[in-house]
Amino acid sequence: MTRKRIYEIAKEFEVTSKELISKLAEMGMPGLKAANSVSEEEYGLIVNLYREESTPQAAPPKAKAESVPAEKKEEERKEEREEGTRGIVRPPIVSVLGHIDHGKTTLLDTIRNSHVTAKEAGGITQGVAAYQAELDGQMITFIDTPGHKAFTGMRARGAKATDIAILVVAADDGIMEQTIEAIDHIKAAEIPMIVAINKIDKPNADIDRVMQDLTKHGLTPEAWGGETITVPISALKGENIDELLEMVLLVAEMENLRADPDGKLEAVIIESHLAKGRGPVATVIVKNGTLREKDIIVAGSTWGRVRAMTDDAGARVSEAGPGKAVEVLGLQDVPRVGTMIDVYKSQSEAKNAAAKQKELEAAPRRSRAKMSVEDLFREAMEADKLRLVLKAASTGALEAAKREIEGIGVEGIDVEFIHTGVGPISEGDVLLASSIAEDCLVVGFGVKADGKATKVAERDGVAILTYEVIYELLDEIERALKSMLAPEYEEERMGEAEVREVFKIPDGVVAGCYVTDGKIERKAKVRVLRGGDEVFVGDILSLHRFAENVREVQNGRECGIRIKDFNEVMPGDRLSVFTLKEIKR
Ligand code: GDP
Repeated sequence: MTRKRIYEIAKEFEVTSKELISKLAEMGMPGLKAANSVSEEEYGLIVNLYREESTPQAAPPKAKAESVPAEKKEEERKEEREEGTRGIVRPPIVSVLGHIDHGKTTLLDTIRNSHVTAKEAGGITQGVAAYQAELDGQMITFIDTPGHKAFTGMRARGAKATDIAILVVAADDGIMEQTIEAIDHIKAAEIPMIVAINKIDKPNADIDRVMQDLTKHGLTPEAWGGETITVPISALKGENIDELLEMVLLVAEMENLRADPDGKLEAVIIESHLAKGRGPVATVIVKNGTLREKDIIVAGSTWGRVRAMTDDAGARVSEAGPGKAVEVLGLQDVPRVGTMIDVYKSQSEAKNAAAKQKELEAAPRRSRAKMSVEDLFREAMEADKLRLVLKAASTGALEAAKREIEGIGVEGIDVEFIHTGVGPISEGDVLLASSIAEDCLVVGFGVKADGKATKVAERDGVAILTYEVIYELLDEIERALKSMLAPEYEEERMGEAEVREVFKIPDGVVAGCYVTDGKIERKAKVRVLRGGDEVFVGDILSLHRFAENVREVQNGRECGIRIKDFNEVMPGDRLSVFTLKEIKR
């Protein structure tokens, strides 16, 4: 018997992998993952368990959570919402990333050819930048533009187009520079990844080496006791593609991807262009709710009425529910990729919303290029975190820069490298920084930004800082880190006065005092002491000798003192006067 995997067994007994895993944990087999396999003996135990459970009551197999009958009471729906079983299971939306020539396009083509049932109308390839594949009746939506630049561009504005990423690594080449970039982009998106070890048909394929490399990058394969799902495939020969898709569905199940077709529309623009004779065209992926023909929509600074929609098979459709990708006609302008779509009730509301957004975008932003470097760093650190995309000319320089930056130990502030790499600052680097937060900085050490990167940085307001010498960078970071921390003060005692009389004046009182110790300065702070108690602390409003305003009064002299915001001073009070001195860090 071949060893069975957890998810296969779960399928057999019609429970979710999650349920089976927690059951097994109860039985004393903790820490199993859905892709793990079990021994024959363990399988026997599971069979017994489910037989025992079902025999006495002859319980029917558990109904799948998909269907929520319409007559369900709101109360029940609420409970289910809390348990995460509301709505329908929606297809996962998947992006393919990896190093150039490792087989991303081939994989997408192979899946399209083997697992897409709907044929394209008239055989004409449509412009829809996504397609739906099917495995055993379950759908998976693939975004057809591979690569991390596109991937991050699609979520540059906080929209989350993708649910799951497939990282393609060629088994004959191993982890390369763009593989590492892709890993960092996926990590920044905080979504699960599946590693497809590709080209296993090649004689020099070395799966073990890829697994070792993955471990080095913090992605220990499940087979080696880690958490990373790996599937060896040949995209070219179509080998193990079903297995890969099964894993995608499995991860989707674990993610509990659900949607309500009648709920609020959540849809992301994943591609857009201007087409001759058709006007602005946008490919939209629906994650929740339903997009319909004639809907009035706003996409960032543009709006329109959905004139026509085409699905991934090239067929005209009147609505698109969760998991669907459609090409939409009818927008006034070409929207930016990564923009979310909102539906409006009236054209005028939509027009207003788009105009408002346009104004926001056009408003002169505080030019980050003109901000002082110290300000930039300070801004970046307001979240107690300095986030950087760091590029350097060589591995050695990169490691040195990383080490030095990490070495700037300032309490309370973490330095987080979103991505580090060798080579010029690229568009992808800027997009990545922009997708993290406006205050994520792109720093180059001995490298420059290319033209596209500079352009995107200007558009998105991302600051790029480049240095030749490491100390320039370190000095600036350190200065900013220090200036970030709130200054600390210490009290310095100056003198004391005794209140002998209190005079009422039209807008308050004046304390007639005698300086008993040190001196009193007009700019000092004052503490009012009565008996053993402190009754007030604040500032001196004015200080005078006879009728004259003075800056200071020495020990042994009389003076009049007005205290800011305090008119309850009484004869016999003692005024202790002090200054605040900043402690240099
Ligand atoms: P991309 O740059 O990642 O999109 O890579 P492509 O899909 O364009 O593939 C690059 C090259 O690798 C092409 O010549 C493919 O035919 C080849 N290739 C892709 N997958 C496989 C595979 O599984 N086995 C073999 N032998 N070649 C592959």
